[in-house]
Amino acid sequence: MRIVSSIKTIAALLKDLRSMKPREKAEFYKAKCEYYQGIVELGLLVACITTIFFIYSDYMINGSFIPTLIPRLSILVFIAIFFIVTHFSNNSRTMVVMDFFLGHGMVIAASWTAYNLVDNSNSITGIIIVNILWLVIGYVSTPMDTTINGIIFVCEIFITNIFNHYISYEQIISLEIPIITGIIFVQYIMTAFFLDRYRISQKLEEAMITDPLTQVYNRHVLEKIRTENILEKIPSDEPISVAMLDIDDFKKINDENGHYTGDITLFYIGQKLSKDTHEGEYVIRYGGEEFVIIFRNCDIDTARDRMEKFRTEIENANDTPVPFTISVGVSAYTGDYTMTLRTVDSALYEAKNTGKNRVVVK
Ligand code: GH3
Ligand code: MG
Ligand code: MG
Repeated sequence: MRIVSSIKTIAALLKDLRSMKPREKAEFYKAKCEYYQGIVELGLLVACITTIFFIYSDYMINGSFIPTLIPRLSILVFIAIFFIVTHFSNNSRTMVVMDFFLGHGMVIAASWTAYNLVDNSNSITGIIIVNILWLVIGYVSTPMDTTINGIIFVCEIFITNIFNHYISYEQIISLEIPIITGIIFVQYIMTAFFLDRYRISQKLEEAMITDPLTQVYNRHVLEKIRTENILEKIPSDEPISVAMLDIDDFKKINDENGHYTGDITLFYIGQKLSKDTHEGEYVIRYGGEEFVIIFRNCDIDTARDRMEKFRTEIENANDTPVPFTISVGVSAYTGDYTMTLRTVDSALYEAKNTGKNRVVVK
């Protein structure tokens, strides 16, 4: 049955959500907000504008536009504040808070309007309709936000009743509590569905930047580092070094042992490089049998020592698919990414031209 498999899927996704570390969870909700905020914002804006047109319904009750004109138009103030704040802050948490702010702006404007109506028996409809807003904002908020908001909304009904004396107050409260509970439940389902999508996009993103043979980064990452100025953003007092590594006479390895042996040699070196680098450092397969390593918090002497150790370990290893050696160029990152890559490339070229199986610093 489809419903049973859907419940199982949602339960597994919610388990995944619960097991996330706080930082990972924050990243997930940020992505959810970035994905849906545009549509939520548009929905809220349409809802706000729609409430202004309710003034004709007020006229039918009061026989005049005057008493509810200002309360109805007051929503424009909330819209203005919403746009000013969201214009200056791109933070996803601020966005969510401002979405709720606009939703409550509508509640305040509607309650003020109800205060000026000779008959507020329609308030129950208005209050129940407002729940659609909480459902829409649920696309960007967390289930916890929706729970807190539900409590605030019930308090709001309680407080506004002191002035408005809603004709069907008890009925409003008795309807509102199950509705809010339902919205929280639906929101967990919506969050689980987004998590499914989020995990797929994470896998795609990872596949895009991972070399399938060696399991290290591929060239896309070099491009990303350049276009997103990743190295420039690192504090200038942190030394960064770059190494470029090339297997010596790799063509011969292929020719004499077959391409499969060549492949597992590449895999071996990728694994060893990953093992020998720290978190935050980059190991990138640059070309066929060439790798770029970006060392963090590592001056040029340390980088040379690390690569020298790596080179001798490879030379003396007895667990490699076939015996082989490597040549390495090492250079300090100067602040100019393209220039550094050019320098390190020429250091590698020199290592190749001066006998191979060596590390050259430039
Ligand atoms: P040098 O010491 O000057 O670097 O010589 P080399 O033979 O290592 O360099 P060359 O650039 O002439 O050859 C690189 C070879 O790498 C050629 C190509 O067939 C092989 N190669 C590139 N990608 C792969 C791969 O994914 N798997 C295998 N098995 N071989 C590859
Ligand atoms: Mg080579
Ligand atoms: Mg090469």
